[in-house]
Amino acid sequence: MKTLLINGDWCAADDGRTIDVDDPASGEVFTQLSRATATDVDSAVRAARNAYVNEWSRWSATERGRLLARIGEQIHANAQEIAEIESRDTGKPLHLARNDIAVLARYFEFYGAAADKHHGEVIPYLNGFNVQVVHEPLGVTAHIIPWNYPSQMFGRTACPSLAAGNALAVKPSEEACQSVLFIARLMQEAGLPDGVLNIVTGYGNEAGAALASHPGIDLITFTGSPAVGAQIQAGAAPNNVPCVLELGGKSPQIVFADADLEKAVPAIVGAIVQNTGQTCSAGSRLLIQRPVYEQVVQRVAEAISKTRTGMPDSQADCGPIITRAQFRRLNALLERLDASGVPRIAQGKVADVPQGGFFIPPMLYGPVPRDHELANAEAFGPLLAAIPFDDEQDAMALANATEYGLVAAIWTENGARQQRLARAVLAGQVYINCYGAGGGVELPFGGRKKSGYGREKGFHALDEFTTTKTIVNRFGT
Ligand code: NAP
Ligand code: MG
Repeated sequence: MKTLLINGDWCAADDGRTIDVDDPASGEVFTQLSRATATDVDSAVRAARNAYVNEWSRWSATERGRLLARIGEQIHANAQEIAEIESRDTGKPLHLARNDIAVLARYFEFYGAAADKHHGEVIPYLNGFNVQVVHEPLGVTAHIIPWNYPSQMFGRTACPSLAAGNALAVKPSEEACQSVLFIARLMQEAGLPDGVLNIVTGYGNEAGAALASHPGIDLITFTGSPAVGAQIQAGAAPNNVPCVLELGGKSPQIVFADADLEKAVPAIVGAIVQNTGQTCSAGSRLLIQRPVYEQVVQRVAEAISKTRTGMPDSQADCGPIITRAQFRRLNALLERLDASGVPRIAQGKVADVPQGGFFIPPMLYGPVPRDHELANAEAFGPLLAAIPFDDEQDAMALANATEYGLVAAIWTENGARQQRLARAVLAGQVYINCYGAGGGVELPFGGRKKSGYGREKGFHALDEFTTTKTIVNRFGT
């Protein structure tokens, strides 16, 4: 099995070891990956440095952008095949995977077009001086990518970094990375020079840790849990390597009594059902003003009951949970919820699935006590916690009461309240009378508090993947 891409060659792990990969719909092994060692990671980082110095840094921004745009076209041309690969590997229904691949192509298009538009500055200074601030690539960027949106997450971090002029060492999740391997081949075929993109498939605590602590990298971007985010920073600290961390959330949907429920309910349900709740920006807390609590819960419960969980190749709303470990974690949480007596108000239907698959349907719990783990900890599954609140002050306090701060939604027709709350909520994105972070590649995205720091997407990502240099030129007397 040769799934390591190092300096343009597909190779096996240094010691020949492999990893079995599960099909989440059946629980059975369906393929294998090379299990990268620290030696492989070192080779990948060296290859990236060499390609950066000797090749990629010589390309103009326009040339880099043109290549990214061409790869975007290739992704469109192969969209059905990539979506089928993504669906098989992650278990997500094909129609969702199709959407992921459309977003992936958008990353290539957006950053292909943006590559030569990240302009510098000229600063007015003392007479006789010309001061320029130029953006420069960092050199080699390390990318540790999770299993929930393998192709999208690859595009989200790889495209701005390549557009900015860096060479890459990527550690995708061994749980799901077949799409990333396929896209890497497309990128080679489109003319990406050898060594500009290197991929080390392997375990987080082996290949991931070796990459995060490697002295030859200039930045790490990581998406995953706060606990692993802390380990990544610890690994990077001796080398003073900066990180961009996107560490999930417990994002609130704040519904006031005057909200337009026709609009709110489908968006609220969509935000927890999407990707079977395995989304960093899942709207997992449903905060409802007391006068409409029963009414909102009833409408959301109806919609949740109608959801269908099934096989990835069906028209189901939800597929299986992507990983065995996550399936076990969620089942343990469901047991604790039952034991603690929090009412399960509704759950979706599971139909036509084989024994051994990792299926859990969407569920609505409520009222969830404010100190319960379902009100505070990221479940990373399709579990929605309904919690009543009294007034705007209470809503504000409750919205900010978790350790996270990624996304929030405010549902009210009161314009002044929309603005007050949007400013008061600690989050990287706030939606007013709508919800959705996934598709908007143009929209800066990232967290506050334990949700992490740094911004991806949009032009802000180009700031993260570059540094500035201030050039002071005295020309006067
Ligand atoms: P995780 O442990 O944070 O892992 C995410 C990625 O980091 C994986 O590729 C993982 O590889 C790698 N990794 C693990 N330990 C590492 C280390 N010491 N050094 C470098 N890389 C390392 O996430 P998980 O275990 O898959 O899921 C646990 C929880 O994380 C979930 O319940 C969810 O709350 C959160 N999560 C959030 C997101 C998000 O989008 N924000 C995505 C995934 C998970 P391995 O697969 O080999 O561990
Ligand atoms: Mg898998």
